[in-house]
Amino acid sequence: MAGIYIHIPFCKQACSYCNFHFSTSMKNKSDFILALKNEISLQNDFISSPEPIETIYFGGGTPSLLTLSEIDSILSVIQKKYTINTDVEITLEANPDDINTSTVKEWMGLGINRLSLGVQSFVDKELAWMNRAHNSQDSLKSIDIILEAGITNFSVDLIFGSPLLSDSELEKNIRYINERGIPHISCYALTIEPKTALHHFIQQKKGVGIDPEKQAAQFLLTMDLLNSFGYEQYEISNYSKAGMRSKHNSSYWQGKPYLGFGPSAHSFDGKDKRRWNIANNMTYINELKKHKIPFEEEVLTTAQRFNEYVMISLRRIEGIDEDFVLKNFGSERLTSLVSSCETFINNKRLELKGSNITLTREGKLFADGIASELFLQ
Ligand code: SF4
Repeated sequence: MAGIYIHIPFCKQACSYCNFHFSTSMKNKSDFILALKNEISLQNDFISSPEPIETIYFGGGTPSLLTLSEIDSILSVIQKKYTINTDVEITLEANPDDINTSTVKEWMGLGINRLSLGVQSFVDKELAWMNRAHNSQDSLKSIDIILEAGITNFSVDLIFGSPLLSDSELEKNIRYINERGIPHISCYALTIEPKTALHHFIQQKKGVGIDPEKQAAQFLLTMDLLNSFGYEQYEISNYSKAGMRSKHNSSYWQGKPYLGFGPSAHSFDGKDKRRWNIANNMTYINELKKHKIPFEEEVLTTAQRFNEYVMISLRRIEGIDEDFVLKNFGSERLTSLVSSCETFINNKRLELKGSNITLTREGKLFADGIASELFLQ
């Protein structure tokens, strides 16, 4: 088994660009923790594999809002229910404003051995515009605390391509992370998602939209700078020093099975079945009071499995593996895929590395568009 994802659906305040599932009211937090533990105990039929758990990931939302005893009690239920690998990777997503020395040490005491810090930027005017709950001083201080505590498996999230971020500010953000020796960086382009405050502002003409050319230039700047610092871009938005890739996210991208607990969390059986919990805290809590897990499920068609493989693999450094396609989808599909790739190879957006098809530097700017051209309809 690959891993367990725990979704913590609470945040201090709503970031203007965010469309994840979360609530800014903590009123139901205790009931949620009970429901979550109940869900973990009840889950028994989705993945029957007896393999031990390799990774546990607390995501959200804002998992760093949990108390120590809440995290401890969730981990205890998982330990009772599953066999955990001795070298399990346990990641907690944290926001800079929740970090202090004693908390980090206590997290480590519980077995949390990887932190993913939501810095996003060190530019205060941009953080305010994003409605983040922290400022640059909080981030700088939290990085010091984490490094001093001895957490070596550590990732920072950055956002590029916002209207307020200049190229030189982005470069400064990246340089700082490199100088501090942080071994993993996730860099995402700002997107304007429906039903977010940012989307609303732009529709009402109260805010400036995204400039795609500037965003593309900042993507290339990020990629080139991080590569020059020795970070490997092992996934289109994720960069790591040698041996420091996220095991948990790598498992998703390798199609391994995982279980997701909490509202909106997804599970995958590693073959063709996907489940997702309802994205509503109250329904989740109330259904679990009745010992029912509120989820929906689908069995993926061959076309869906192929398209997902193409989409995810193109984003990875390893690219699309022709041998995998042959083994899992047959020779006819492989021949047709290779022929669809030809145009992109000729215009230098794709390249062949042995039997793997990967994006070139320029091709990475068009990853989603290229993937959709390769899809099975
Ligand atoms: S803290 Fe994270 S999950 Fe919460 S609103 Fe902000 S971006 Fe979204």
